[in-house]
Amino acid sequence: MTFETSYPGILEKLDQIDPVKYGWDRNFGHGSVTRLSPYISRGVLSTKQVFHFLLDKKYEVGKIQKFIQELAWRDYWQQIWVAKGDLINDDLKSTQEKVAHRQMPAALLQANTGISVVDQKIREFYQTGYMHNHMRMYVAAIACNIGRSHWKAPAQWMYYHLLDADWASNALSWQWVAGSNSHKKYIANQENINKYFDSDQRDTFLDVSYAQLASMSIPGILSETIVPELNVFLPAEREIFLDRELPTLIYNFYNLDPLWRSDMKANRILLIEPSHFKQYPVSEQSMDFMLSLSENIRDVQVFVGEFSQLQQWPGASTFIFKEHPLSGHYQGVMDHRDWMFDVRGYFKSFFAFWKQCVKSLA
Ligand SMILES: Cc1cc2nc3c(=O)[nH]c(=O)nc-3n(C[C@H](O)[C@H](O)[C@H](O)COP(=O)(O)OP(=O)(O)OC[C@H]3O[C@@H](n4cnc5c(N)ncnc54)[C@H](O)[C@@H]3O)c2cc1C
Repeated sequence: MTFETSYPGILEKLDQIDPVKYGWDRNFGHGSVTRLSPYISRGVLSTKQVFHFLLDKKYEVGKIQKFIQELAWRDYWQQIWVAKGDLINDDLKSTQEKVAHRQMPAALLQANTGISVVDQKIREFYQTGYMHNHMRMYVAAIACNIGRSHWKAPAQWMYYHLLDADWASNALSWQWVAGSNSHKKYIANQENINKYFDSDQRDTFLDVSYAQLASMSIPGILSETIVPELNVFLPAEREIFLDRELPTLIYNFYNLDPLWRSDMKANRILLIEPSHFKQYPVSEQSMDFMLSLSENIRDVQVFVGEFSQLQQWPGASTFIFKEHPLSGHYQGVMDHRDWMFDVRGYFKSFFAFWKQCVKSLA
C-alpha cells in the first residue's frame, strides 16, 4: 500500500469511495475504508470537500449517513482541540484509571505481542504509515487497558508513524479508549479480533471472557516497557526569496491545500518549524510525505525555521494563514477553514455534536 501524492491522483480517490458499502463493513480489516485520512489530515482535502463530492453524486443521505458521521468525527475532534487547546495533551474529562507507567509495552513497539494479526498489522504500519481504525483501537486497548500504560507515550508513538497524524483525532481517540475522554475503557478480546480481522488464533492472553479481561493483571508479555525513540529529521535549511510586493501565504503540516487562494499572486512558503516538530515528532516517512504533497502547491518554497525568523526575512510583508490550534503564534491575516456543518464549539459527546449537525441534513 502506497499513498499517491499528486493532486489529480488524490481527486481520483474520491470517485472510488463506496459510502453505502462502507456503512456495512467499515469495521472489518478488509472493509471499504477510503484511506483518505492522510490527505484530510494534511489539509489537502477538507471533510467538507469530501462530503459535498458525495452529495453532488446524488447519494441519498440516509444511505450514506454512517460515512458522513465518521467524517464528522474528524470535525468533532478538531472542534475540541480548537475549544480546549493544550488541555487535550492531558487527561481531558477524568484521570485515566489503573495506570501502571507512562511508557509503552515494548512488545507492541516491537510487533511481538503474540497476537499474530496485531503484530502483522504493526509491521505493515511501520512500512505504510497507515492502520485501520479498528486495529488502532485494539492496539490502544492493549497498551492502555491491558498493559496499563498512560495513553500519552503510545499515542505519540502512533502519531509519529501515521501519515494521517492529526493530534486531535489521535490524542482524543487514545483518551476515548483509555477512558479519560469517555465513560468507560474500551476492551476487545481475541474472539472480537478474530471476527474482524479474518484470524482464528486461540490461547492468547486476550482469549478470555470480557469479565476476565476487565480485571486481569498485566500479562508477562506486556510487562517490559519502553520509552519510544521519536527522532525527527528536518529537511536541510534552504534559501528562500520573498517578493516584498506580494503577501506571503503560509502552508504547514496541517495546511497543504493546493486550491487555497490559488488565483492570488503571492509568495508561498511551507513553514517547517523545529519547535513544532519537537513537540509533535513525526517519522522521516511522514515528513517526506508532507514534502511530496507540498509539490502540488504552485511555486512553493520550503522554509525550515520559526515563524519569528520568517518575519525577519528580507522581503517579508503581510502573512496570510489558515486557522488552526497550532497557528496561534502566527501574525497576519487568518483565513477560516472549511467545516462540514455550521456547528461550532465544545460538545461533551459526539452524539450531542451530531444532533446539531443532522439538523442541516434534513
Ligand atoms: C487510537 C486511535 C488513534 C487515531 N489517530 C488518528 C490520527 O492521528 N489521525 C487521524 O486522521 N485519525 C486518527 N484516528 C481515527 C481513525 O482511525 C482514522 O481517521 C481512520 O482510520 C482513517 O482511515 P480512513 O481514511 O481509511 O478512514 P475511513 O473509515 O475511510 O473514514 C473516512 C474519513 O472519516 C474520518 N474518520 C473516520 N473514522 C474516524 C474516527 N474514528 N475519528 C476521526 N475521524 C474519522 C477520517 O477523516 C477518514 O479519512 C485514530 C483512531 C484511533 C482509535
